[in-house]
Amino acid sequence: MEIGIHRVATINYTLKDKDGNLIDGSSNGGFRYLHGAGNIIPGLEKALEGKRKGELFQIVIRPEDGYGVRNSRNIHKIPLDRLPQGQAIKPGMSYQATADNGQGIVVTITRVDDEGAVIDANHPLAGVSLYFDIEVLDVREADAEEIRHGHAHDTEGRACA
Ligand code: ZN
Repeated sequence: MEIGIHRVATINYTLKDKDGNLIDGSSNGGFRYLHGAGNIIPGLEKALEGKRKGELFQIVIRPEDGYGVRNSRNIHKIPLDRLPQGQAIKPGMSYQATADNGQGIVVTITRVDDEGAVIDANHPLAGVSLYFDIEVLDVREADAEEIRHGHAHDTEGRACA
C-alpha cells in the first residue's frame, strides 16, 4: 500500500541540519501521522506521497517547504514591562507569547538592554534546510474517526483523549 490521502503512515526519521547536527528524530516505535491533513511540513508530506512500507530514502527540504524563511517582520523591540515578569530576562530565553492574530507562539529573546528587549518570533527552524533520513515502517487506511479528527490514532485504533 502506498502512502496517500486518508492513509496513516508510520515512519522512522532523523532530521539534521546541513552540517550534520541532529535536530530531531522519531522516538521508539516511529512517528505516526495522517497523510494529507497538514500534520507535517509540506515538503515532507510531498516526499512521502506514494512511498511504501520498507522504503528508505533521504530528502533535503528547503525552508520554503519546511518551517518557512526567516522574516525580519517577526523581530520586534519591546519594552521590558511587556516581558514575562518575575524572572531574569536574558538572551536565549524562550517564552510563550500571543501573536497579533491571537495565536500562541514561542518567541526567543535575542538581546536585552535598559530600554527593552529584542524578541524573535520566527520559528527556530525558519530559514533552515532540513536533511531527513526516512524509513517507512507501515502504511494503513485511516478510519472514519481519524479522518474526521484530522489526525492519526494509535495502533489499536483507540480514540484520542
Ligand atoms: Zn482524534
